[in-house]
Amino acid sequence: MKYLKEEQRIIVGKKVKIKICETPKDGRFLAKALPLKTIIISKNLKNYLGKRSYWHVLLHERAHLESINLVRFLPYFMMVLLFFLNFQELVSSILDFKWPIVFLIKIVVLILIEPFFIWGSEILADRFAVKNSKKSDYEATLIRVYDDPRYLGNRSWFYRNIYHPPKKIRFWFIKRF
Ligand SMILES: [Zn+2]
Repeated sequence: MKYLKEEQRIIVGKKVKIKICETPKDGRFLAKALPLKTIIISKNLKNYLGKRSYWHVLLHERAHLESINLVRFLPYFMMVLLFFLNFQELVSSILDFKWPIVFLIKIVVLILIEPFFIWGSEILADRFAVKNSKKSDYEATLIRVYDDPRYLGNRSWFYRNIYHPPKKIRFWFIKRF
């Protein structure tokens, strides 16, 4: 990925590296947190946001740099754990030329529930941003981002409704923080 600009900023007590990248080919907005202290923002998103809403996006991504991010990866940790715990059973079923059915079912269940962990990490990141900002301002930013076709426009139905919490769900929680 090509970076156009890089800056350091203290966000809620943490020194964070912010990298501005080229607008993706399909024109969508991009904002993501990379472990352990980097936030990537696409040029089109930065240009679209005002100073205040840019700060809100940084706050949200900043939350993903914290342990909140572990929530997202919990199913993967569980898969690894499952693998080691079931290792003997796995090996013996393979040696007996049998399918390790129980093991596979456990993996499938983890894959099916994975989006809910992602929802959890998104909602916790919203909570973090709201706690460190003004709720109505943060909501305004979220609406501004969601309402632009460059945010969700070309993403699949699956991504918008299953893999990522829909706007309604996020606002339902934000109202209660
Ligand atoms: Zn997020």
